[in-house]
Amino acid sequence: MSETSSLEVVAQGRQHLADWEAAQPENFYSTDQHLQSILNFYWGAEKLSVYAPRLTQFGHEAATIIDAAVRRANEPHNLPRLERFNAVGERTEQVIHSAAHHLAGKHIYGSGAMGVYREPGNNVLAQALFYLSSYNGEAGHNCPLACTAGIIKTLQNVGSDELKAKYLPRLLDTNYDTLFTGAQFLTEVQGGSDVGANACTAVPHADGAWRINGEKWFCSNVGADLALMTARPVDGVAGTKGLGLFLVPRLLDDGSLNGIYIRRLKDKLGTKSMATGEVDFKDCVAYPIGEPGKGFQHAMDYVINTSRLYNAVGSAAAARRAYVVAWTYAQHRHAFGQPISQFPLVQETLAEMRCDVMAMTAGSFYLAHLRDRIELGEADDTDKQFYRFVVNLNKYYASLTATNVVRRGIEILGGNGAMENFSVLPRLLRDCVIFEAWEGAHNTLLAQAVRDVQRHSLDEAYDQGMQKICSPDQSLRAGAILPRMRGQLAELKAYDEMTASAGIREVAEDAVSLFYLACWENYASDDSAMVREWFLTTRVSVKSKAMGAVFKKMFIEAISAQL
Ligand SMILES: Cc1cc2nc3c(=O)[nH]c(=O)nc-3n(C[C@H](O)[C@H](O)[C@H](O)COP(=O)(O)OP(=O)(O)OC[C@H]3O[C@@H](n4cnc5c(N)ncnc54)[C@H](O)[C@@H]3O)c2cc1C
Repeated sequence: MSETSSLEVVAQGRQHLADWEAAQPENFYSTDQHLQSILNFYWGAEKLSVYAPRLTQFGHEAATIIDAAVRRANEPHNLPRLERFNAVGERTEQVIHSAAHHLAGKHIYGSGAMGVYREPGNNVLAQALFYLSSYNGEAGHNCPLACTAGIIKTLQNVGSDELKAKYLPRLLDTNYDTLFTGAQFLTEVQGGSDVGANACTAVPHADGAWRINGEKWFCSNVGADLALMTARPVDGVAGTKGLGLFLVPRLLDDGSLNGIYIRRLKDKLGTKSMATGEVDFKDCVAYPIGEPGKGFQHAMDYVINTSRLYNAVGSAAAARRAYVVAWTYAQHRHAFGQPISQFPLVQETLAEMRCDVMAMTAGSFYLAHLRDRIELGEADDTDKQFYRFVVNLNKYYASLTATNVVRRGIEILGGNGAMENFSVLPRLLRDCVIFEAWEGAHNTLLAQAVRDVQRHSLDEAYDQGMQKICSPDQSLRAGAILPRMRGQLAELKAYDEMTASAGIREVAEDAVSLFYLACWENYASDDSAMVREWFLTTRVSVKSKAMGAVFKKMFIEAISAQL
């Protein structure tokens, strides 16, 4: 090769990369046909046409201004830092964020991502906005959005009129300079899954409020204006039954600092532009919310069941972004004289990524729609039980799958995939690993599924809920497979808890995959029938897997007994 032609080859290679960069969408909404099909199905064309301009506008902001701002906010010199004192030595416990972080926040909250909760039945809209925002991963604001939504729902459902009047307007505000953001502080150093081990104490005070003392180990959005936290009234019984739920403002009414002292910010693997801290509470002023003795139940109903849906939608969107990055790359990157998209194995990877993204997006938006029906009083008890059971399975599967999808996207980009300054993928991967831990680690959620089936027979709610999704056209593939799935879930009840636990992973994955398929079969998009068929073939393998659990348990016990 002559010197001139070798230079041309290099220039061409670089040009291909530049072409890939130029091919990135400038609008995450208008280029996402699948999201549009889902919204059209749940809303109908008329309602969609009302919200489409807003989603198009925000889809553009998310792909341009917010994308650039979040990239900058995640550069090491722009990460949040703790400033505990002001110039004259007074405690302020302030988290300082970069200008880029605030620019992203202005657009994200400005979209009405929280403001839409002024009216009940707006979960699909809220999740559509959140999905578009989450194309940028956690983005420094998406975890706080989930926490803020949890506080809004708790206040709306079980808050006193006084607390509602005091806090809801600021939480629903869309002006980033004046609004309140929320946090949820449950986890303590001795355990996060085991919330019943909480040791923070709460005592009533003569002024009518309470005082909280103790510490929390993971406090995301630690600089939030308002936190919802669990603490144990001093006369409370042990375990989750003795926990109360409290609202804790960062600043008191006179503007002074409440008794919230940030020990340090966590040095995290991902979600880096959002500050997570460890906090000491010293005579912290707190307002009880909801019924006494129902603190944990309220936290589950309004906070955790909300944030688990947020977590899954955020995971699906991060995976979708990875697919977009990888797919466009495959069209432009050349190897062995052709675009890599021509290689069957690259095509297979992309097909699997796409399939997973579409499946979890379909399922997550069904749950958002169901949540709307629950809030509007249109759902029955079975629907509520179905939501409770499936929101956990969905969180488990979507967060696990998103990490896998992003990792496969990195694989498509070859060496460039591992470069921090080349694409958004390394940051998305780190964020997705955090999504897996947040709001319930995998095994905790699966253990919950075992209990839900064995103690509360939620397999029956699953079956009835699935029949509603599949009906009236029982010829749908998911509907035809459902009886086998029903048998598998019910089979878990025949075992003791340990044995059922050994079989739950495969059964849960089938149950949630079948749920995705059923949701997805209800609406058409150009090629979604083909993608669904692929998903059915590769992901849904309902056989009598629980039968193998007895043997699997034996192996697990033997193997895990050794160091
Ligand atoms: C970046 C980040 C931010 C966070 N922000 C917040 C926040 O703002 N507020 C908050 O309250 N928490 C927050 N968390 C904490 C998070 O919710 C917990 O980490 C999570 O609930 C798990 O609790 P743990 O870390 O104590 O793990 P553990 O409870 O110690 O669990 C360890 C392992 O044991 C498994 N396990 C535990 N119990 C069971 C069981 N019964 N059956 C089967 N397996 C089980 C778990 O699945 C896990 O794999 C955050 C975590 C991270 C990483």
